[in-house]
Amino acid sequence: MRVLIAEDDGFSRRFLAHHITQWGYEIVFAETGHQAWDILQSQDAPRLVLLNWMLPCIDGLELCKKVRLQQRSPSTYIIMFTSNCSTADLVAAVNVGADDFVTKSFDIRELEVRLRAGKRIVELEQALWVLATRDSLTKLWNRSAILETLDREFARAARQGTFLGVVMADIDHFKHINDTYGHRGGDALLTQLSQRLVRELRKYDTVGRYGGEEFLIVLPQPLAADTQVVAERLRQVVTQTSFQIERQTIPITMSFGAVAVSPSQQITPDILVRAADEALYRAKANGRNRVEFQSRLAESFSAASV
Ligand code: GH3
Ligand code: MG
Ligand code: MG
Repeated sequence: MRVLIAEDDGFSRRFLAHHITQWGYEIVFAETGHQAWDILQSQDAPRLVLLNWMLPCIDGLELCKKVRLQQRSPSTYIIMFTSNCSTADLVAAVNVGADDFVTKSFDIRELEVRLRAGKRIVELEQALWVLATRDSLTKLWNRSAILETLDREFARAARQGTFLGVVMADIDHFKHINDTYGHRGGDALLTQLSQRLVRELRKYDTVGRYGGEEFLIVLPQPLAADTQVVAERLRQVVTQTSFQIERQTIPITMSFGAVAVSPSQQITPDILVRAADEALYRAKANGRNRVEFQSRLAESFSAASV
């Protein structure tokens, strides 16, 4: 597990690093509050933090407050350390969101056990977070997690004035596959298809399992027409992939409903999902194995939100 050590004093950093690496942790350093904040904003930020109260730029107490205001999931476990050692200091640190508190004159064995307790909490929270956000069969984001991503990307696109694409994709005649190969065969296919979709998408696109054999894909910042291109590419990839059930190759096709808009006040994420769903319905009605795309929302959609 990685630990962020936010400490401006070089001697103290080396001392801590020497021991903490011996206990099997990897270390990331920050010398100022700003650096620590930047590191904590990154995608794979360390979840366990040893934070000095006294830091240049932003002090530990302030940093703690900022981290807690963000309400990120899974959260960050913060052990504050300081030479201030009154009960009032401890209360102040915990009040702004520190999980634990050690004084600088600590016996190094105390830090070891406190880090271990922190690691246990971080691992537990990570496991709970996976359970709450991932679909257990396909390991894709589950319905509530993909809808949360949509909300977030919608807000970002609105802020930046960029486009947001939403694609609803559904396997054609999946019931027939279940009927022929059994539910377990159908499950195997869903898993392989999910992996294939993830592999095909860009790093900043997100795919989630919206329902049984239905997937919701969120594509931030493409030009409106890119959404159609991506959906068309996915459609072709699915038809060209050799999915296997019990060593038999199973050809499948999917239908896609795609929309792309530049978010405005008349549109909400919910309206986008409904529009993608209606486009998917048209793709089914128009013969399946096809993409139906719209870059403008029908009057009825926009009107629905006002
Ligand atoms: P269409 O082309 O109109 O989409 O037809 P379809 O057969 O794919 O759609 P329909 O809604 O009739 O059937 C979907 C099937 O998906 C029925 C349901 O049993 C199956 N299904 C839903 N969730 C799962 C799952 O987790 N595992 C398996 N194996 N099957 C599932
Ligand atoms: Mg289907
Ligand atoms: Mg369906």
